[in-house]
Amino acid sequence: RTVERTFVATNSIQGRGRLNNWLQHDEAWHKVRSLTQGASENKTLYAIPYMMSNHPEHPIGSKYGLGIELTDSRYVALNMLRMTRTGSFALDLIHASVKKQKESCGLATLNDVEIGKAFVRAVNITGNLDTLSRTNDETDDRWFVTFPDTRFIVHHGSAYGGNALLGKIAHGLRLASADAQKNRWLAEQMMIIGVRDKLLDKSEYVVAAYPSASGKTNTAAMAVPESLSNRFEVTFLGDDIAWMYVGEDDQLYAMNPEAGCFGVAIDTRFDTAPNLVSAVSSGSGTIWTNVGFNTNTRRIWYEGNGEPFPDDLADWIDYKGEAIEDRPVSQQRSGDFPWAHPNSRFASPLKKFNQGSVENNVSNLDPLCEHQSGVPISAILFGGRLPYREPLVRIIDNSVDGLYDGFVLGVVKTAAADGADGKFGPDPMTMGAFFGPSETDYIENWLDVIHRSRDKVPTFAHVNYFLRWSAFEDQLENLGLEEAYQQRKSDFIWPGYGWNILEILWVLRSRNSSTDFKATAVGRIPENFLSFEQWLGLSDDEANEVRTELHRDVSESAVNALFHIDPEAWVGELERRDRFLANYPDMPDEFLDAHTRFRRNIETIAPSEA
Ligand code: GDP
Ligand code: MN
Repeated sequence: RTVERTFVATNSIQGRGRLNNWLQHDEAWHKVRSLTQGASENKTLYAIPYMMSNHPEHPIGSKYGLGIELTDSRYVALNMLRMTRTGSFALDLIHASVKKQKESCGLATLNDVEIGKAFVRAVNITGNLDTLSRTNDETDDRWFVTFPDTRFIVHHGSAYGGNALLGKIAHGLRLASADAQKNRWLAEQMMIIGVRDKLLDKSEYVVAAYPSASGKTNTAAMAVPESLSNRFEVTFLGDDIAWMYVGEDDQLYAMNPEAGCFGVAIDTRFDTAPNLVSAVSSGSGTIWTNVGFNTNTRRIWYEGNGEPFPDDLADWIDYKGEAIEDRPVSQQRSGDFPWAHPNSRFASPLKKFNQGSVENNVSNLDPLCEHQSGVPISAILFGGRLPYREPLVRIIDNSVDGLYDGFVLGVVKTAAADGADGKFGPDPMTMGAFFGPSETDYIENWLDVIHRSRDKVPTFAHVNYFLRWSAFEDQLENLGLEEAYQQRKSDFIWPGYGWNILEILWVLRSRNSSTDFKATAVGRIPENFLSFEQWLGLSDDEANEVRTELHRDVSESAVNALFHIDPEAWVGELERRDRFLANYPDMPDEFLDAHTRFRRNIETIAPSEA
């Protein structure tokens, strides 16, 4: 993704935010018209009618989810077939929508704005990738522009991922968040899961916003550890995008508008992600991008797939298309010279056809994933990939404070966004690259959603799967962690993956009943987290089994590190938030008050200056 070249263009300057790269509509329109005109001469154009919705009658999806993508890339067309619901049924829906729009306007032909109300027009023109200017200034030929006023999207200069599969980010997040802000619903970069208690036969649903490459897809496809699997199950509803609305019963409902997963290939392997491995196995229709590939056997290979490097290097090419055999021997099987790109991906459908019948391709797909209303949401999680400071989980009691927590999210940028690897920066609501409206309008709409949810408002919490031993090295003695450090299995303190069900369950249990907690300046954290008989209601035997399995991966004393609150680090965070929020003097007072509360809380724990 090329964030700097991605724009939102509206007629009114009201649409300008700090992060949406705003342009004036007409100027941007002339630019993309001149770039795209004639640029696909002699190429095949594919027209893909699609529906970004889980159901043709979903209250939000049916109104805002229809579109047609026009692309000159066969690769893009094939990916769209995995990632969205496409086909003649979508064209029929679009016809009906246009007809309805004509009736409501009383006109035989619709103008640009009115057509936009009926369906999204999304155009992807690749351009000449060999000669394209990539200067990152006005002379750059890559222009990825969303026009919310006419619900038109034109992307020129790429055929990859979010730059080109326009249903996903451009329509599903950028345009949808503009539509949502105007019409009092939400379009978020969030996964959606069900957490089912098999004993009670009851599911609760959770959405979570983690920045790109921070565990959304893996969490949604989670297989819970064996010792918990008789009792609990995580079901998949969505791994990247949630469209949400407040129902007439005040309940917040979420729906995944996509029909496939576009997951990070690296590290997808059986022991941590069995449901993903089966979803990408042969017969699934998966399309791989930027992985190692054998041009003869057509097998693929990427780092962290659980298999050693192939013995026979013949016919293997790396993600750049270069033969592995042509490399110096020392670089052929070396982690320093990867075969797959760090942002290599798989596109795999949620459902597949098998001998005339439709079956689940993602094996833990929730039975309600195509429910017409979506699913009721009990908790909203934010997370990131922080090596330090953020505990494994903390509950934020006041929902406006929870929203604030999501907006001030800071992340270590990953390979998904071009050139940003390793840098720490703000990513408000993980929507930093995807905002359609201005941040202020966006937050006002969220506050409105929270107010309308009244006493059914979901519980807000913050999770962090990615605490690292290397960040604790200078205080092992202080925190009594020397032995745990010696016993570590990897640099990650928390084994994560399936074990993440524990912190998510803790949030849900804390919502429904009382769990032992410690009140801290940054929220509630678990106390006696390993006492599963208490807060999870397991029998003594069951709880022992869970502890035994867990302690194979993480020692009991390491749990202290997972819930360590370091005052100094939080003071640093306060300063970072001060600087970040100074950009937003126009935010509603109700929102800024949350920052004041946060400041007061941190001041109570701040180490006094000696
Ligand atoms: P998404 O882009 O947010 O959907 O992130 P993914 O689920 O694709 O994961 C991004 C990367 O983080 C992959 O390499 C995963 O293997 C890895 N990952 C996911 N969950 C965990 C976890 O709990 N612990 C650790 N250490 N890595 C994880
Ligand atoms: Mn993902």
